[in-house]
Amino acid sequence: KPSSLSGLPAGVGDALEAEGVAELYPPQAAAVEAGILEGESLVAAVPTASGKTLIAELAMLSAVERGGKALYIVPLRALASEKKAEFERWEDHGVTVGVSTGNYDSDGEWLATRDIIVATSEKVDSLVRNGAPWIDDLTCVVSDEVHLVDDSHRGPTLEVTLAKLRRVNPGLQTVALSATVGNADVIADWLDAELVESDWRPIDLRVGVHYGNAINFDDGSQREVRVDRGGDQTAALVADALDTEADGQGGSSLVFVNSRRNAESAARRLGEVTASRLTDDERDELRELASELRDVSDTETSTDLASAVEEGAAFHHAGLASEHRSLIEDAFRDRLVKCVCATPTLAAGVNTPARRVIVRDWRRYDGDYGGMKPLDVLEVHQMCGRAGRPGLDPYGEAVLLASSADTMDELFDRYIWAEAEPVRSKLAVEPALRTHVLATVASGFASTREGLLEFLDNTLYATQTDDAGRLESVTDRVLEYLEINGFIEREWSGNRETLTATGIGHTVSRLYLDPMSAATMIDGLREACADGGDDRSADYAFSGTGVEGDGDGIETSEGEGDDGPFGTYSLSDVDAGAETGAGAGGANGESAGEEKTEGAARELTPLGLYHLVSRTPDTYELYLKSGDRETYEELLYEREEELLGDAPSAYDDVNFEDWLASLKTARLLEDWASEVDEDRITERYGVGPGDVRGKVETAEWLLRAAETLARDVEGVDGDAVLAVREARKRVEYGVREELLDLAGVRGIGRKRARRLYEAGIESRVDLREAEKAVVLGALRGRERTAERILEHAGREDPSMEGVRADRSASAAAT
Ligand code: ADP
Repeated sequence: KPSSLSGLPAGVGDALEAEGVAELYPPQAAAVEAGILEGESLVAAVPTASGKTLIAELAMLSAVERGGKALYIVPLRALASEKKAEFERWEDHGVTVGVSTGNYDSDGEWLATRDIIVATSEKVDSLVRNGAPWIDDLTCVVSDEVHLVDDSHRGPTLEVTLAKLRRVNPGLQTVALSATVGNADVIADWLDAELVESDWRPIDLRVGVHYGNAINFDDGSQREVRVDRGGDQTAALVADALDTEADGQGGSSLVFVNSRRNAESAARRLGEVTASRLTDDERDELRELASELRDVSDTETSTDLASAVEEGAAFHHAGLASEHRSLIEDAFRDRLVKCVCATPTLAAGVNTPARRVIVRDWRRYDGDYGGMKPLDVLEVHQMCGRAGRPGLDPYGEAVLLASSADTMDELFDRYIWAEAEPVRSKLAVEPALRTHVLATVASGFASTREGLLEFLDNTLYATQTDDAGRLESVTDRVLEYLEINGFIEREWSGNRETLTATGIGHTVSRLYLDPMSAATMIDGLREACADGGDDRSADYAFSGTGVEGDGDGIETSEGEGDDGPFGTYSLSDVDAGAETGAGAGGANGESAGEEKTEGAARELTPLGLYHLVSRTPDTYELYLKSGDRETYEELLYEREEELLGDAPSAYDDVNFEDWLASLKTARLLEDWASEVDEDRITERYGVGPGDVRGKVETAEWLLRAAETLARDVEGVDGDAVLAVREARKRVEYGVREELLDLAGVRGIGRKRARRLYEAGIESRVDLREAEKAVVLGALRGRERTAERILEHAGREDPSMEGVRADRSASAAAT
């Protein structure tokens, strides 16, 4: 029983019981047995939804009770706030909680006062690089979904971060939570941890394959689910779940499909099934939810989502805005939305159980593979694990779909009877090591080549590999790259080689840039500033205007912004994009050593800068679709003058396409910074609103970093710094130059700024002095909004009481 556990803060046990945790689940009891309340390290490899979070909470709370400090590492930014909200209930028991999001270049000092801190692995990595003082005080670290060390893009960061934390704090309690994987014992070995491995689930799970007119379950039983002639299996299964729910409530289904487009079209189709099964009350509530969804943004996605929701169905994917996602997740948990069609993001950690899970697509297009590739067993198991709501359903059902008896057999073998793949470290590749070797040297974890290799010996890679030579040879290549680009210095004395990070190397590490991104940006900026004397010299006149006078609080509006480069991608999206950027960085050694040449700068335009940051490996560029090649080749020839760096020859197919793909990304950013409607942009580039925001955030972050680099390196002049800053602000606010001042006021945004401008209010100063009626008119009569904005603009008396909107102002503005 929770209340009989010792070592927890007073009242925690009783509170757990009051929440309905009458007794520990078996894996939780095993974890306690293994000593998590006394600081033992543990790997818990148990199925989805079997109470891993409580294992982590018990470890963290007992660590805090002993006077320590705990860190909970989440794989996705969306989960950070969810976990924080969950842990905040312990504040009644004197335990403080903080979440660290925001920019990757700060040290999050305020977190020193928190007992439990939640952050993504990238954020923790950057906190270590920035020398956050409280890192030394940690006594317990939890790694959620630790099997993601297998992810080729993000896994290495988690791996190196855990190794660093354990190196700084030798007695650190490490609690790693994992899905059931093939080799949890290897992870436990690596982390010197006890292992709790179990298949136990709080609610029975039946897994089966639907074929013909029945589901064939793994226990040999069958359930008849007839499909109308020419009808669709998914629709029949969704209808069946709704119709047979015993308590008349819900019987909800979660349908996993392989692309965003498929999620959207499936939701539209399944809406027909759910709509006819709604009560009048539900219909009213759904209508309300739909209007909330429409209010989130003015896009087609918003509209489509709202109309699906009115019918009781919804889609969920990484292209949605985060407000959309959480509204849908909540409504699904409340059983208001009856069916959600999702890409695999939803399987990865968001707690949204359903009565029935339908894995409609078990293959997904994979560019590297060159066709449709079967999903990993682990992924399918995680999807299936979302079936069954404890306390609501008698059991959960997960169903795969087959159109032939052969496929049915294949699905049983491939997924239902199969064990999940073993987790394998992805550390020993250049892009990963480039970043982590620099950071390891810069933050003083290693100062010699031997020390570096010894540090790397604490990683999962070293535990797993029998080819120690590979890590060494990749490390050597990376050291060479870092030296050539001026990020580290290597000095021999006797037979010892010392490694030190240069000033710029430290900056790059703290800015959380891939060294190749930094090299690409530095090269591009230097090239622009050098007087090359080529045929572009006619353009040598810098036109940076309008940004000099910006001391006035433009920076203030970014405050709580939850930004940074990784947040809006789903795991699968990250995967898909992971390697594409890597080959595109044209940076190399020769140019890094170039001497500063005096001379007027070439004109640096926003498009040129957006293209520069878009071709770094830190941006996931947009893909070229069919027909795009011509479009962007044309654009390339039109605007070649503005682009920095040398375009690869059109015969060099791969690199040339990369160059064009970056140009496509750059033009998306330029459109955004020219006030093109979000809706137009999503249509023009075939992306979701969440993607637009993701690109914008990444560009903002990289341009901010570019500005710092431009100030620090030789050979880049002050005008270039200003041009970078202006390009960054334009993309940050999504406005043209003349609106920069206005759009920087909190609460204004790109659309309102334009309306105010049209009504003759062109600056903050104007705002402070304008006729209130005109302001109110331009803001379409919204008094509260107008008051807030005037207050932020520093107006003495912002009250709108008794003011009547000037209709001509609002007419002028529309
Ligand atoms: P996981 O992290 O393993 O996917 P969660 O920790 O989210 O699963 O747990 C799933 C649900 O089970 C949560 O709603 C949690 O409150 C509940 N739960 C966990 N442990 C117990 C318990 N011992 N008794 C009752 N409910 C529990």
